[in-house]
Amino acid sequence: MNNSYDVIVIGGGPAGYVAAIRCAQLGLNTACVDQFTRADKKPALGGTCLNVGCIPSKALLDSSEQFHKLNHQFSLHGIHADNARINVGEMIARKNKIVRSLTLGIATLFKNNDVDSIFGHGRLLADKKVVVSNPHTGEVTQTISAQNIILATGSEVTPLPGVPFDNEFIVDSAGALNFDHVPRRLGVIGAGVIGLELGSVWRRLGSEVSILEAMNKFLPTADKNIARDAQRQFKQQGLNIKLEAQVSAATLGPGGIEVRYTQAGKQKTLEVDRLIVAIGRRPYTKNLLEPGSAITLDQHGFINTDQHLQSNEAGVYAIGDCINGPMLAHRGSEDGIAVAEHIANGGGHINYDNVPWVIYTAPEIAWVGKTEQTLRAEGVPIKSGTFPFAATGRAKAMEETGGMVKIIAHAETDRVLGVHMIGPHVSELISEAVLAMEFHASAEDIARTVHAHPTLSEAVHEAALAVGKAAIHKVN
Ligand code: FAD
Ligand code: NAD
Repeated sequence: MNNSYDVIVIGGGPAGYVAAIRCAQLGLNTACVDQFTRADKKPALGGTCLNVGCIPSKALLDSSEQFHKLNHQFSLHGIHADNARINVGEMIARKNKIVRSLTLGIATLFKNNDVDSIFGHGRLLADKKVVVSNPHTGEVTQTISAQNIILATGSEVTPLPGVPFDNEFIVDSAGALNFDHVPRRLGVIGAGVIGLELGSVWRRLGSEVSILEAMNKFLPTADKNIARDAQRQFKQQGLNIKLEAQVSAATLGPGGIEVRYTQAGKQKTLEVDRLIVAIGRRPYTKNLLEPGSAITLDQHGFINTDQHLQSNEAGVYAIGDCINGPMLAHRGSEDGIAVAEHIANGGGHINYDNVPWVIYTAPEIAWVGKTEQTLRAEGVPIKSGTFPFAATGRAKAMEETGGMVKIIAHAETDRVLGVHMIGPHVSELISEAVLAMEFHASAEDIARTVHAHPTLSEAVHEAALAVGKAAIHKVN
């Protein structure tokens, strides 16, 4: 193995591993240092996303959704199954198998692209030297250096004072992916993306789920029509979402976990058998930089970068969750590609105005661009069109009629400024909107594009028609 590289990437999550592969594709001699260790102490590439984030959560969302449909929806199709039961151990084992195969896949991709994969904790010294040590013992294993460094160290769970994790009863998102049984009463602190996704998993399997959210608005970053519809549908599903709930402490007692919180000035308690804390994530840069390093962090701990994602030290870049911006896997990967191309040939670009968001609940929620409330606050003249899935033949055939598509366009130019969806498979449908916006489409461009029948994408087509008051299958 080399000691000297064109590029060293520190962190092998979706930001770092993608950056490393793209660097290697562009002819740069590249190494990726990653410290992630599985429960069995073996190294695993893929970072939070593949090991304890996107992939395992989606595996459990899918399993629990199948179980829920079997119990509550299949009978609508004339399919009856009595005494369906969930084997939690088998469900978790399936999830682990998917994670294992995908993380091993990254190792194979590294091998095939000639990326040197180095297990260990990377610490950046002056002159772009990286000291690699065993993350468990601290023993230094090697020192390597490069012309360019890419920091991709990701994020970690934000802890909540007064609610200490014990990794059995009070857990973070990683713990909630490994419960060995369905808790009878599940508490979740934070009605954000993780709270809603993991709350849904265990609700569908039978838990009574209470979600305590500090804010007085539900999903404030989503478009207000979508957030309202989502809140209504989640309530129907039995997710007990309590807004303006300020949690002060949680303690384990004989009757379970007692969570103390204040709501509307009143002290309240909630008793649950398991508690998930999901109040956000914070950048992870522990023991990454030397004291006195030229690289600075902002007040939240994110690594400061310029428009090329370069830190204040020339040739040292930072990407993904450890820099400011949406903490999303696809955003981190695009950062990685942009930086690799910038290093190789001075190019590299990412359009942060056009990053899609998806919440993988049922119904799914997805959006790209700005919300109606933001555009109105900015004084932008807008017009919009909505279309309910209930009015599409395909959604009816699927028995998935909840939700809608909303397209917001500039009132004068008709350029699409935001697309917001709640409903079946909107995680897939949103890509059409992302592409349309990337090409600066007008609502009329989407309206004049032929959409196959019968498909869910007809709701996108009809919402675009509705912007011009020309929807066919609803009254405008
Ligand atoms: P990470 O994935 O956190 O990877 C960083 C890697 O660097 C880790 O392996 C870490 O061990 C390693 N590392 C850190 N410091 C060092 C060091 N000094 N030396 C060596 N290695 C180091 N996003 C989505 O887009 N879609 C989803 O559906 C989604 N679901 C999620 C579900 C959950 C439960 C969670 C927790 C997150 C989810 N996310 C999702 C967010 C997504 O996981 C992150 O945005 C993404 O993983 C960030 O990628 P990253 O490469 O920046 O960091
Ligand atoms: P989040 O920011 O989505 O939600 C956290 C919620 O907790 C917010 O609603 C916040 O108001 C609330 N909160 C904060 N402090 C609180 C307190 N003391 N008491 C009660 N509520 C409190 O964060 P998350 O759900 O932890 O997820 C972290 C990040 O991981 C997300 O921002 C997202 O970037 C990423 N993620 C993405 C996906 C996806 O793309 N589908 C899925 C999971 C996670």
